[in-house]
Amino acid sequence: MFSPDRFQSHIEKATAFHGHWCPGLARGIRAAVWALEHFGSATDEEIVTVTETDMCAVDAIQALVGCTFGKGNLIFRNRGKVAFSFFRRCDGKSARIVAKAAPHMPSARMQEIRVELDSPDISDQRREELEIEATQIRTRECDRLLSLPFEELFEVKDVTFSMPSKARRLPTILCEKCGEGVMSSMIHELDGKKLCIDCMDATNGL
Ligand SMILES: [Zn+2]
Ligand SMILES: [Zn+2]
Repeated sequence: MFSPDRFQSHIEKATAFHGHWCPGLARGIRAAVWALEHFGSATDEEIVTVTETDMCAVDAIQALVGCTFGKGNLIFRNRGKVAFSFFRRCDGKSARIVAKAAPHMPSARMQEIRVELDSPDISDQRREELEIEATQIRTRECDRLLSLPFEELFEVKDVTFSMPSKARRLPTILCEKCGEGVMSSMIHELDGKKLCIDCMDATNGL
């Protein structure tokens, strides 16, 4: 068992980036620390992360591993899974980690609490009680995620897709309808006009 204190500096850094402390971020911290141990940091090595989630956990990857959308070394491959694939360019090493579903989901009770909190005739006292209970559940879940061995939180697998190619700087083209500048890969031609996605959808009546 690990002591949650082991992650204290990571918790502080990731929470400052993410804006709050939550179970999603706690799980993300475990993924990020694993990546740092097995692949190093993106500030020292050329590391690319492919994330299959855009929820809380990915912020720990951005804050701790240093892969970010703006730098082009974080790629969103939306699958609705808490799964991250790491690629290291110097030696081609790669791995994909996937969150294991919790055997006891605290979410059922959390769901009940949310429903009760949303009801219009709830008393102030009851609201306070429920908010305290919700905070306790979240805190327990964060502690659990920080103390379990990594193997109980994530499964390590091979990556089944190829390493994303380096982000290329593409020319900007002006959309012929709205006049806004668009990266050339996002321009579509419709009836001989070069259009951005929104103008193309509007033309198609979407
Ligand atoms: Zn969060
Ligand atoms: Zn346009």
